[in-house]
Amino acid sequence: MKIPLQKISDPAISSSGVNLFVLRLDLTHQHISGNKWYKLKYNLEEIKKQKIKTVLTFGGAYSNHIAATAAAGKEFGFKTIGIIRGDEEKELNATLQFAESGGMKLHFVSRTEYRKKHTPEFLSALTEKFGKIFIIPEGGSNEFGVKGCTEIVNEINIPFDFICSACGTGATISGIIMSLKEDQKAIAFPVLHAPGYIESEIKKWITHFNSKNFSNFHVNEDYDFGKYAKHTPELLAFIERFEKQNNIPLDQVYTGKMMFGIYDLIRKGYFEKNKTIVAVHTGGLQGKLH
Ligand SMILES: *Cc1c(COP(=O)(O)O)cnc(C)c1O
Repeated sequence: MKIPLQKISDPAISSSGVNLFVLRLDLTHQHISGNKWYKLKYNLEEIKKQKIKTVLTFGGAYSNHIAATAAAGKEFGFKTIGIIRGDEEKELNATLQFAESGGMKLHFVSRTEYRKKHTPEFLSALTEKFGKIFIIPEGGSNEFGVKGCTEIVNEINIPFDFICSACGTGATISGIIMSLKEDQKAIAFPVLHAPGYIESEIKKWITHFNSKNFSNFHVNEDYDFGKYAKHTPELLAFIERFEKQNNIPLDQVYTGKMMFGIYDLIRKGYFEKNKTIVAVHTGGLQGKLH
């Protein structure tokens, strides 16, 4: 599929002299949308190669990755198990209902238990319990996930100077950074308040892939709104205006925060005139407040 690159003709942007485009990964697939499609791509190849029939993964109750993995299982014919952080509520929310209707088996674990999820003990207990499974970490952020995200930049068929993405684990932006040319720069917008975390994740992945020493990125921690999934009336008002003006939906957890940051940086003159910025729309609309 050809991914649309949509030019923003909002007067608030055009008057600044910079060119802003949105790479509409939210349109990649109806249910495996945005960056989650790229993160799953090589994981799914691996499952096929290893002839494994069941995928187990992790996430919070609103996780876009949980929804995408369930949808992929349904579409490509493998079983899915979701280890969900927190106690089971009386009624499943829309994300978990969607996952369950896609055939995902949900297992709720306490927050304390969940924190141990990547320890060898926890993982071998899971294998014992569920048999032969392929384990994908939270957010789909393993080596295969990062590899898939290196292909996001290939979708852009114009020259550009800056590329921006919202970050949770930093896997997506790491893949992007490793496929940039030297005169292109990435700006990461973390959505969790964890100073230094995304920068260290990016450096970890660059080292892991043994790539040349990429330093053409900047992590901007000014737009995390204090906490994951936290939003303010100002952010919601921005999203509402942006959507009306540009006819592109944004969610309040990821893309809304990134776009708020980009607009603010443009307004403050961070980018020189005539520079071209590509904002990656990483999807996540299934978790949008309506
Ligand atoms: C999962 C997600 C992200 C975060 O991606 P990371 O690779 O974990 O940084 C960003 N945007 C949206 C919409 C997401 O669903």
